[in-house]
Amino acid sequence: MDYILETRSLSKHYGHFKALDGMDMHVPKGAIYGLVGKNGAGKTTLIRLICGLQEPSAGSFTLYGTENRDKAIVKARRRMGAVVETPSIYLDMTAEDNLKMQYRVLGLPSFEGIGELLQLVGLENTGRKKARHFSLGMKQRLGIAVALAGDPDFLVLDEPVNGLDPQGIIEIRELILKLNRERQISVLISSHILDELSRLATHYGFVDSGRMVKEISAEELDAVCRKCVRLVVSDVKPLARVLDSMGIEYNILSPTQADVFANVNLSGLVNALTKESCELIAAQERDESLESYYVNLVGGARHD
Ligand code: ADP
Repeated sequence: MDYILETRSLSKHYGHFKALDGMDMHVPKGAIYGLVGKNGAGKTTLIRLICGLQEPSAGSFTLYGTENRDKAIVKARRRMGAVVETPSIYLDMTAEDNLKMQYRVLGLPSFEGIGELLQLVGLENTGRKKARHFSLGMKQRLGIAVALAGDPDFLVLDEPVNGLDPQGIIEIRELILKLNRERQISVLISSHILDELSRLATHYGFVDSGRMVKEISAEELDAVCRKCVRLVVSDVKPLARVLDSMGIEYNILSPTQADVFANVNLSGLVNALTKESCELIAAQERDESLESYYVNLVGGARHD
């Protein structure tokens, strides 16, 4: 598999405190990788190391296959855009002037593309309005536009929807999906709110106490979290025969219990079981939700 970013035992210590404690992470090319963890789990620290804002205490990472200790990492970082903590925008400038400033910083030959960039993030009609008067969501989108100025193919966003209202969250989500699908930009996005990532991530990394607890693709996660009905019967053998004949997927848990992964027509099932002299004692819908998967993984409640 091609990884845009791979970290190996990446660590960051502050005195005896390990903000990152041997983090192993793999961001596949083309992914929207959701980095999920409670506040204080180490997400921002990780992102700061990747962006070169801080040096690791131990371990290493590669960006586009370039080692972090290699001088060429500076060049690799040019292919990456990031919004870490607060967006780096000038509040006394308009959206257009902010982008012009970034184009100058990057030494880009002309301002061509600024109009398109403003349109992409939905700020084309902000005219002479200074960024100071923007909503939080608009500021965040301007921050993303600034990060996109160098035409990166990897975008890193630290808690981009933190503090946004529902409409602002939807706009950021749609923008990220558009960048990923239409511009093939890989995205690393951190959040302490799992639900928000669940609508866009293709891969997840669950972090806790500075360590990677589990990396899983959205597809794998869906399979783990899908809804099921737990059936209690007098005997699972006839139940298995009936479910096989109905083409329904199931998992036997005990001589009297099975989980069924489909919408079952209970009266049809009861009729079929009666013919097999099998009694249906109970049926309970279970929702192994994303949330409970996460809590099982890292333990304890989320800190919102
Ligand atoms: P997250 O982004 O997941 O909320 P952070 O990476 O910001 O977590 O922080 C991880 C841990 O490292 C926290 O306990 C935080 O207090 C600690 N930390 C972060 N920066 C410093 C620092 N400069 N000095 C000491 N501790 C720090």
